[in-house]
Amino acid sequence: MELDEHLRRAQARLAHIRRDIHAHPETAFEERRTAALVAEHLRALGLEVHTGLGRTGLVGVLRAGSSARGVGLRADMDALPMEERNTFEHRSRHAGKMHACGHDGHVAMLLGAAEYLSAARAFDGSIYFIFQPAEEGQGGAAEMIRDGLFERFPMQAVFGLHNWPGLAAGRFAVRAGPMMASSDEFEISVRGRGGHAAMPHLTADPIVAGAAIVQALQTLVSRNVAPVEAGVVSVTQFHAGEAFNVIPPQACLRGTARAFSPQVRDALEAGIARVAGSVAAALGTEAELHYRRGYPPTINTPAEAAFCATVAAEVLGAGQVHQDLPPTMGAEDFAFMLQEKPGAYVWLGNGEGEGGCMLHSPVFDFNDAIIPLGVAYWVRLAQRFLARRPEE
Ligand SMILES: [Zn+2]
Ligand SMILES: [Zn+2]
Repeated sequence: MELDEHLRRAQARLAHIRRDIHAHPETAFEERRTAALVAEHLRALGLEVHTGLGRTGLVGVLRAGSSARGVGLRADMDALPMEERNTFEHRSRHAGKMHACGHDGHVAMLLGAAEYLSAARAFDGSIYFIFQPAEEGQGGAAEMIRDGLFERFPMQAVFGLHNWPGLAAGRFAVRAGPMMASSDEFEISVRGRGGHAAMPHLTADPIVAGAAIVQALQTLVSRNVAPVEAGVVSVTQFHAGEAFNVIPPQACLRGTARAFSPQVRDALEAGIARVAGSVAAALGTEAELHYRRGYPPTINTPAEAAFCATVAAEVLGAGQVHQDLPPTMGAEDFAFMLQEKPGAYVWLGNGEGEGGCMLHSPVFDFNDAIIPLGVAYWVRLAQRFLARRPEE
C-alpha cells in the first residue's frame, strides 16, 4: 500500500491511540501502562520487543534484508506532574499528571511508522524504535544508554522529533549544531553571622552578600561569554530571614545555567563558583556552591541535520522546511543520545490556534492533524537511511 493511502486509513486510529495515552498520563519512570501499550502494539506487528531499558523504556526491532546497518528512531513517553485544565473528552484521568509536552503524540507517530515499515519492509538493515521514559528532567535517555542501548542495538545514527507549538502545522525545523541548550541547576548557601538589625556592624549580613552575588552573576554572560555565543544564568530563588528586625545567619540562592556548547557550560560553572566564593568572602561571609549538571546541549551533527532536512522537504515540501530558526534555551535529554551517536533532533510544527499554546501549558494539547506528517517523516527517514543498494 502506498504511504499516503496508509496514512489516510491509519489517521483516525492513531489519533485514538494518542488520545487514549493523553487520558492516561504517566510521569517519569512510571510509564508502565504506556510501555505495555507500545510493547503489545509492536509485538502484534511482528517486531522483536526488548523491555526494561531505563526501567520503563523499551526498544522494538524491525529487520529487513541483509545489511548490518541500523538506525534509531526515538520517541519519549512521559507526562508532566501538573494539573490539566482542558475539559475535552480525552483530558487526563489522573490528578496532577498531564501530557502537556505532546509526548503522547510522539508515541502515536512512531507507532504509526512501525506499522507501515513492518508491512512494507522496503529497506535493508535494522530499525530500532526507541521508546524512552522520563524525558522531563529525569534523564531517561541516559538510563537507557547505561542499560546498553547502543551496544545491544548497533546503529549508525539516532534521530528524535518534537512537536513545536508556534511553528505552523506541517512546518519543520532542523539546524546543524545546537538545537537546545544544556540545563544545569545551582544552589549557593551564603553563611554569615546573624544578629540584631539595629546593630548590623556586629553581623556578617548574608542578604547583602547574596544580593551582591546575584548582581555579580550577571557579569558571567556579559563579560565571560563571547558576544556571539549564548548563555543564561538566572537566579530564580532567594530565601533568607523571617523577621523585620533580625539579620539572619544565612541565605540560599538557587537558579539555572544554560549554554549551547560544552565550553560555555564549563565557563559558567567555573564562573558561578568563582563569583559566589569571592564576593561572599569580600563581604565577610562564606558561600558554598552545589552545582548539579542536568542535560547537556542538544547538538545535531551537520550531515544528519542536512539528511533530515532533505527527508522533510520530500515529505512536507521544500518551502515547509526551516534550517535557519534560532535554537532555544530549553533542554532535552535526547542530547545524551547525540553525545553517543551522530544524529539530529527536529521540530515538527504543532500549529497555531487551538493546538498552538506553548509546551507545558495546562491547556496544551498535541495536534492530531500532524500525526500523518510525523509518521511520513519517520517512514521516509528510515527508508532513505537504510536504502537498498542499487546493485542488490
Ligand atoms: Zn517538556
Ligand atoms: Zn517534550
